[in-house]
Amino acid sequence: MSNTIRSKILIIEDDPGICTFLHATLTAEGYDAIVVSKGSGALEIVASHCPDCVLLDLGLPDMDGNEIISGIRRWSVMPIIVISARSMEQDKVQALDLGADDYITKPFGTDELLARIRTALRHRRTASENDEAALRGSYHVGDMVIDYRKHRVCIAGETVHLTPNEYKIVALLGLHAGQVMTYKAILRELWGPSASTDNKILRVHMASIRRKIEPNPNEPRYIFTEVGIGYRMADNED
Ligand code: CA
Repeated sequence: MSNTIRSKILIIEDDPGICTFLHATLTAEGYDAIVVSKGSGALEIVASHCPDCVLLDLGLPDMDGNEIISGIRRWSVMPIIVISARSMEQDKVQALDLGADDYITKPFGTDELLARIRTALRHRRTASENDEAALRGSYHVGDMVIDYRKHRVCIAGETVHLTPNEYKIVALLGLHAGQVMTYKAILRELWGPSASTDNKILRVHMASIRRKIEPNPNEPRYIFTEVGIGYRMADNED
């Protein structure tokens, strides 16, 4: 990781203990960390600092963190990682559907947090090079290669025979590797805003995809299920 330009991380969190921990951890890791402890005024601070990533607590004393997600998404695609004590699947799905990039449930480990931040920052760079560039290239993880130019997926050099819809699902998850995508987001991306919200169709496709790409479909190596939420493609950590 480059030390020449320090990525700026804005922490929006009211718990003083967690703020101190996050600030110390991120500073030690070479990030420029800024703490905001209230919801009111947070959007203005986000706008004035233009951070590279926002860590956002949903349970703020004066505001629901979801309002901040919606507020940021009106003008920016900057990465937002939700840090929440809310472990209900519905809360996570809501935050992700409003535009959060990822979520971590308290209590969380330092390694997990740092890995999620690295993933978010990497996606920010990809996004700045725009999706078309990503679509011209390929994504490699383990023995799998998604070739976006040829619309092909290979495992250990062998082409996998995916249906067009199966390919679209794998390709989409590959563009968001390391990040959870909700069922709704996947359906919307693939079949438009009026797509059915029935997850069953996705589960059927996923079962078939796994039979084709996973050495052991019961212990997926490439596409993980986030129970009740969606799917996450395995990420390369370097
Ligand atoms: Ca809180």
